[in-house]
Amino acid sequence: MFRAILLSKDDGQFRATLAEIDEAQLPQGDVTVRIEFSTLNYKDGLAIANRSPVVRKWPMVAGIDGAGIVEESSHPDWRPGDKVILNGWGCGETHWGCLAQRARLKGDWLVRLPPAFTTRQAMAIGTAGYTAMLACMALERFGVKPDQGEILVTGAAGGVGSVAIAILAGWGYTVVASTGRVNESGYLKSLGAKEIMDRDELSQPGKPIQKERWAGVVDAVGSHTLANACAQMKYRGVAAACGLAQGMDFPASVAPFILRGVVLAGIDSVYQPMPLRIEAWKKLASDLDRSKLDAITKTIMLSGVIASAPEILAGKVRGRLVVDVTD
Ligand code: NDP
Repeated sequence: MFRAILLSKDDGQFRATLAEIDEAQLPQGDVTVRIEFSTLNYKDGLAIANRSPVVRKWPMVAGIDGAGIVEESSHPDWRPGDKVILNGWGCGETHWGCLAQRARLKGDWLVRLPPAFTTRQAMAIGTAGYTAMLACMALERFGVKPDQGEILVTGAAGGVGSVAIAILAGWGYTVVASTGRVNESGYLKSLGAKEIMDRDELSQPGKPIQKERWAGVVDAVGSHTLANACAQMKYRGVAAACGLAQGMDFPASVAPFILRGVVLAGIDSVYQPMPLRIEAWKKLASDLDRSKLDAITKTIMLSGVIASAPEILAGKVRGRLVVDVTD
């Protein structure tokens, strides 16, 4: 038996429980992993609080992320004892996820834990941090250099935002952090933000083209915030769009794209091809300041997950929540 956050819908009635599950019920897969740590991402919050249709198969074990040790494998790449990371691939949505003490997964989904990290540190990064790295890599790929000007990070005190600030500051960029929690200025500056901006400055409808300010943007928020950020981009600036904390809408015009050559780079972590995942984790291992990672992270137990889901959706979680699944 193992413990897991089980989401069920019986006669249309949704329930999230901390359940004891028989290992015989684990889904098909070629690798069985003893999960040591998982994490609570925004999407996990949506699933556990039943706020949007994240789960598409019932019952579902929640958890889009996990890190642990291979127990059994018939996949050629993995042996018992190997330390692995799982991010996405529909886990916690269409395949049983990792807010659990055991997971049966596909070997093709797994990334080897970089030796620089413990399984706990890997989950302090989790999908939010690995997505932040994918977004920062997109800025680099489209040619944004530190001397070209300021980089705006929205949703700054959240998981994606916090890790993005730490990465960009480490790479020498000048980071402006947009947040609804200006009382967290000290925290955001300790991660490397040079300036703090109240998120209200960007969250209302704005003109389609505005004064040029940003060389790049990492946006976790969407909606008017992303539209205003695009309208304020410098010539050939790059906006990496990865989130929707304000809304899924994008009430913008094409003006920044056709008049200033702005690039809007979409970031998806779930089905990201394996070579880019491996590159992102390698860069996280080499470039992310471990002491900043500790400052970003709080640990909760599996028994605290259900109560924390509404908190992350309300934007009350600072940085990242790691889940110790051993209780
Ligand atoms: P968090 O909840 O940790 O952070 C989101 C942050 O957004 C909050 O901390 C808050 O920051 C800000 N925010 C919340 N509500 C609003 C609002 N109404 N208006 C403006 N800002 C708001 O979530 P994550 O960092 O884990 O994820 C951020 C987003 O990225 C989510 O939408 C998530 O679904 C998405 N995501 C997408 C991925 C992908 O593959 N594309 C992967 C991972 C995440 P502050 O308090 O500083 O204002």
